[in-house]
Amino acid sequence: MPMDESVVLRGRAVSKSFGQLVVLDGIDIAVEKGEVVAIIGPSGSGKSTLLRCFNGLETPTSGTIEVAGQPLSRNRRELAKQREHLGMVFQRFHLFPHLTALQNVMEGPLTVKKMDRRQAMDRAYMLLEKVGLRDKANAYPSKLSGGQQQRVAIARALAMEPAVMLLDEPTSALDPELVGEVLQVIQGLASEGMTMLLVTHEMAFARHVADRVIFMADGKIVEEGPPEALFDRPQSPRTQQFLQNVA
Ligand code: ADP
Ligand code: MG
Repeated sequence: MPMDESVVLRGRAVSKSFGQLVVLDGIDIAVEKGEVVAIIGPSGSGKSTLLRCFNGLETPTSGTIEVAGQPLSRNRRELAKQREHLGMVFQRFHLFPHLTALQNVMEGPLTVKKMDRRQAMDRAYMLLEKVGLRDKANAYPSKLSGGQQQRVAIARALAMEPAVMLLDEPTSALDPELVGEVLQVIQGLASEGMTMLLVTHEMAFARHVADRVIFMADGKIVEEGPPEALFDRPQSPRTQQFLQNVA
């Protein structure tokens, strides 16, 4: 395993059960600074639950999660502090409907970071620019397409200057013609060196953007490796079967 200083996110033997149902079964994972890790796998394999454990929305039944070398706290205040290091982007955008795009992006810095208004606004404009939506700064979410809303959600996550972005199928709720614009933004972040853990069913994109791909099934990591190896020379029959079915 890599040296701790370079590891932004680590899970050791993470297991999670809901009653009798074992959803995660001994997951070991370390994401290094600057690394883009894609998680693929069939529906129900535990991908979302793993991301939710990483950002403290779920508590593992056993095992440990560390963010920037610190175990996730069980104390609510400390956990909230640690979660500031994690930029979360969900399948559904969860923007504040009563706030404009700009206000959505300013909200975290204003209320959590206590940033002054001018600075928060300047940064929000800069981030909207980065996701190609500066001209939509004053639009409310209901006036934006799904792809635009998701780009605002990405800008909002970036506004907290997270050490790592956790993205859970960020394009799966979008109409096909809107997927590309969101993937392009994620690609841009990757090339700027943003550390990311991305759950996706966009195989071509995972191949293109990820440094490492993890295939999960039944709550376990079945296989992982560089995209070329995993996609072109999968070792496990389970991986081979999955890739055949999605191709
Ligand atoms: P994936 O994201 O890979 O599709 P999930 O992590 O969403 O998988 O779900 C894995 C399994 O855990 C599924 O069988 C799902 O029904 C179950 N599950 C997820 N969250 C809960 C919960 N809060 N209570 C009970 N079962 C859950
Ligand atoms: Mg999921």
